[in-house]
Amino acid sequence: MESRCLSSKATPPPFVIPIFIAHQGCPHQCLFCNQRRITGVVEGLVGPREVEETIRTQLAWPRRYPAAPVQVAFYGGSFTGLARERQEELLGAVQPFLAAGQVQELRLSTRPDYVTPEIAGFLREYGVRIVELGAQSLDDRVLAASGRGHTVAQVRTAVACLKEAGLLVGLQLMLGLPGESTAMALASARQAVALEPDLVRLYPCLVVSGSPLAELYRQGRYQPLGLPQAVALAGRLWVIFKAHRIAVVRMGLQPSVSLEKAVLAGPYHPAFGELVLSRLFFKKVRAALFARLPQQPHRLCLARADESIYRGRGNGNVKRLAALGLLEGVETVFSASQPRQTVLLTPLVP
Ligand code: SF4
Repeated sequence: MESRCLSSKATPPPFVIPIFIAHQGCPHQCLFCNQRRITGVVEGLVGPREVEETIRTQLAWPRRYPAAPVQVAFYGGSFTGLARERQEELLGAVQPFLAAGQVQELRLSTRPDYVTPEIAGFLREYGVRIVELGAQSLDDRVLAASGRGHTVAQVRTAVACLKEAGLLVGLQLMLGLPGESTAMALASARQAVALEPDLVRLYPCLVVSGSPLAELYRQGRYQPLGLPQAVALAGRLWVIFKAHRIAVVRMGLQPSVSLEKAVLAGPYHPAFGELVLSRLFFKKVRAALFARLPQQPHRLCLARADESIYRGRGNGNVKRLAALGLLEGVETVFSASQPRQTVLLTPLVP
């Protein structure tokens, strides 16, 4: 029995204006990285004029949630590794929009070893609100095996500097890096929790053409996670962060044509995050349905926004629940008033 939808009202996510500064400012070569392939940016430096034009153009676009805050986000590369003048130019280009109230948030990402108290203070002066650190792992063995060129201690120091300056901190973690076991990934997540970040992003490690990892893969010296394995592992990490009220704002890389062309191997899926949430939600609904009195009809109430993760790809979750006989006598309702990722099962009075 399905399904009835009630009206909905949700907090709108920020309208993000992305600006890619691929590899600019980064003299490193992490094994998994070929930023040019991933972002599709091959030539040319992004300058203040491009920043202004991008913001102007995107501010003119129709928005799904006009009341949502506008966030300018510098992606890729290592922002604070750029020459200070370039940082000032790029951040300076955003200032008029911040002052005019057309942009409310400024976010950037960088390496942990490119953050000092002075740098954090500088970012704060320019109105930066969120700094995401490419921590990737909180295990020194994994960092070394991945050619990251920084340590866990440097991640800790960077987080402390940013917090001290009053900035919000994001941690980016990668799953399935060279030398990382499942136990190490889980331990890394617990270490990340101890740093109390404001948000986290989880990315499965992919083999991208042109990266040193691609060569290791060709030589049979690196084996990426399979998709089911990566989805299960990301789910376990999501549960750890959720238990500590730390928002996992993204799982999986932003899909793009250039990324899809560049991926040679690894757990790539354009809706990776949805696969993870769908798997977790399936387990939750299944547990609730197992616990009910089977003879009595029930109403299964879920958040309307959770309908797609409840159904799963190709309605797969519903088919699995039905095959287990768990949907017999169950009326499924999708409601706007039901909190996200919760399950309410109530007996139906005949
Ligand atoms: S630090 Fe970032 S941009 Fe530089 S090589 Fe590593 S992943 Fe790529």
